[in-house]
Amino acid sequence: MTTRSTELLRVVHRSPGVTRADAARLLGIGTGAATELVTKLSRAELLMQGPAAPSGSRGRPTTVLLPHPAGPLALAVAITHETWRVEAVELGGARLAALGGGHAGAAWAEVRDAVRAAIEELRLRYGSRPRAIGVAAPGTVSRDRRLDATTAGWLDVDLTTLCPDAEVFVAGNDATLAATAESRRGAATGAAVALYLQIEAGLGGAVVEDGRPVIGARGAAGEFGHMPFGDPAIRCPCGARGCWGIAVDGHALARSLGEPVPVDPITYARRVITTAARALAAAPPYPPEVDAVRAVAATLGRGIAGLVNGLDADLVALGGLGADLLATVPAEIDAAYRDGLMSIHRDTPPPIVPAALGDDGPIAGAAEEAWTALLPRLA
Ligand SMILES: [Zn+2]
Repeated sequence: MTTRSTELLRVVHRSPGVTRADAARLLGIGTGAATELVTKLSRAELLMQGPAAPSGSRGRPTTVLLPHPAGPLALAVAITHETWRVEAVELGGARLAALGGGHAGAAWAEVRDAVRAAIEELRLRYGSRPRAIGVAAPGTVSRDRRLDATTAGWLDVDLTTLCPDAEVFVAGNDATLAATAESRRGAATGAAVALYLQIEAGLGGAVVEDGRPVIGARGAAGEFGHMPFGDPAIRCPCGARGCWGIAVDGHALARSLGEPVPVDPITYARRVITTAARALAAAPPYPPEVDAVRAVAATLGRGIAGLVNGLDADLVALGGLGADLLATVPAEIDAAYRDGLMSIHRDTPPPIVPAALGDDGPIAGAAEEAWTALLPRLA
């Protein structure tokens, strides 16, 4: 299939429901050529033409381009430390089906078998339509698709065993894929250089330039939580001192409140931030949670400034607890951020926004990467 066909599919994938006229303009082709191309792709069961929703304006009815109801699908897989999920995703990003379950920290073989069974079930349901697999995994994913997830005890795992006969197989780190999804369909759409930061137990993220994440030589890029923006007196489990990640998460809040190391730092942090938010919505005097959350917010803002200075990002999206902090103490984050920015950035500081996709980010990113790899092959 021609490059132009692939380009048209890419346009419909990015904007399902785009009018045929707009698609022609985006491709720089005439209406005649567009009609011909759409007819060809409809016959190949890749696109479908539909009537546009009535806009209230007069004139000729417009035609919109939609995924074909019998068209190809990508299967997106997201594995976390506690759950797995498989979704069937059509051109344009809509989810047609989802299967999932918990694994409560099981051995890799058990999780692999559960995911394989779900993939088989979706293949039975959709026949030959699933053409690509994208996997989001909770650890470092090398270029040859091997996973190291130390917390789960899954070391040097071959992710391709999830679907050995896949026509297209892509895999990546969950935070990196969430960043990709935020850039393509979320809060960072349109940014030239987007910085995505996700706070859970520690902090991870990715830099996405023109929609493509920087993954690093070993697939380990984005470990911003281990930059020394924290307290040099404190040693991180990674071995280094002064790591930023443990200065902005539940561990930091517990230290600040003089409480023991929380068993579940994410739930703990959420509880502390909620307590602070409720107190701030009322009147002073404030409980110690407010000071703890403010201190973490300042450390977060200062580190973001350092990264924006270093990367020249034009947008920062915060996911996980980062979004909770941004909703609760935006002024503290902003003040520390502006203080830390070089003057060239200070007149128009790149905005800090909450991530839009939430927990769906990793699986949405896995679907996006699968579709990106599949589109040029559709013929
Ligand atoms: Zn560290």
